[in-house]
This record gives sequence, structure tokens and C-alpha cells, in this order.
Amino acid sequence: MQETLQLLIELQEIEGKIKILAEHKARAPKEIAALKKKEKEAEARLEDKKMILQSGKKLRRDLEVEVEDLEGRKTKSKQKLLEVKSNKEYQASLKEIDDIEELVRGREDQIIEQMESADDLDRQIREHKLLVVEASKKLKEEGAQLEKEAKKADALIMSLEEQKEQLKPKIPSDLLKKYRFLRDKRAGVALAPVNRGTCGVCHMNLPPQTFIDLQRNEKMMNCPNCLRIIYWTGHEAYKQSSQLE
Ligand SMILES: [Zn+2]
Repeated sequence: MQETLQLLIELQEIEGKIKILAEHKARAPKEIAALKKKEKEAEARLEDKKMILQSGKKLRRDLEVEVEDLEGRKTKSKQKLLEVKSNKEYQASLKEIDDIEELVRGREDQIIEQMESADDLDRQIREHKLLVVEASKKLKEEGAQLEKEAKKADALIMSLEEQKEQLKPKIPSDLLKKYRFLRDKRAGVALAPVNRGTCGVCHMNLPPQTFIDLQRNEKMMNCPNCLRIIYWTGHEAYKQSSQLE
């Protein structure tokens, strides 16, 4: 009885460890994908800034061409001013020059704006480049660590599976069936340690007589509340597993 129960406790411990390792391993690809996504997002933000800077530069070149054009027109208007015959023509030419100068001032203001925003974008691009480098570094380092851990988990799972296979033939098959049934119905936990008369899993107090019977360790017993197979952690043979509580 004692030995069989010990085997079941051992089996539950092994399966518990496998479950934790498998969950841990399953997280790795998700975490790596999240890191990749962050790197891509950082790259996309950098590309955005670069594109805004490029279109700003193009706009500035266009404005500069316009200013050159306007300056050419102004020169012509000034020459015309020297050749005018009447006051009316003279006023009209002056007005033309004024209008052109007004347009030039407007373009020049826009050029200054573009220069300032280009400076700002240059600074942002430098920052975003650093963010991309950081994200890539994180992906590389943390990704490698996650893969390493996943491999380690794999190796541990394999060795635990082997231990499990060695254990199974030692357990009577009807008991193994009962264990599996309980495990599947009870959130992966078929056995519950009892300490000071309380079920270690559902935390229900056992009736006093049940606890006395359990301490005798003569038969397989179940928690009256959660129906898990129970064992008393005060018993020498089961002490080790009580540390798991
Ligand atoms: Zn219970």
C-alpha cells in the first residue's frame, strides 16, 4: 500500500514537472514572435520618419526652384521699370515687383519651416535608429536565450518521460486507471497530501475519524470533498513529497 502510493506520488510529481516544462516551452515561440514584431514596428517607424524627411526635402527643392523663378521675374520687372513711359505704367510695375516679393517671402518662410522640420526629423531618425538597434539586439539575445531554454526543457521532458515509462509498469493497472481518471477530472492533480487533517488541494478539513484512518495508512483513501487520493504527509514514506505543498 505504502509503496504503491509512493509510486503514484512520484508519478504525479513527474507529470507535474512535465506540464510546467511543456508550458514554459510553448511560451518561447510566442515570446520570440512578439520580439520580432517589436523589431518590425521599430523599423517601420524609422522608415516612416525617413519618408517624411525625403518628401520634406523634395518640397524644399521645389520651393527653391520657385524662388529662383520669382527672382528671375523680379529682375525682368525691375528692368521694365527703367523703361516705363507713364506714371501709370510705373505704378503697375512697382505693384508687380511688390507682389513678387510677397510671393518670395512666403516661399522663403516655407523653406525655413522645412529646414527646421528636417533638423527635427534628423534627430528623430537618429533616435529611431537606436531603437531599431535595441530591438534587434533584444530579439537576438533574448531569442537565443528562449531557444536555449526551450531545448533544455525538451531534454528534461524527455528524461522525465523516460522516468515515467519506467514507473508505470510498477503500478497496478487498475490503480493507474483510477489515477488517470482522477487526474483528468481534477485539473491534473489526482493525489492530495493531507497535513494536520486538511486536504492539501481543496483545503477541506477531513472528518476526524477519516484522518485517524488515514494516519494508519492501511488502505487507499479519498478526500470526501474533492475525491482525490489522499496521503498523510506525517508518514515517513510520504514526507519527501510534502515539501511540494
Ligand atoms: Zn480534497
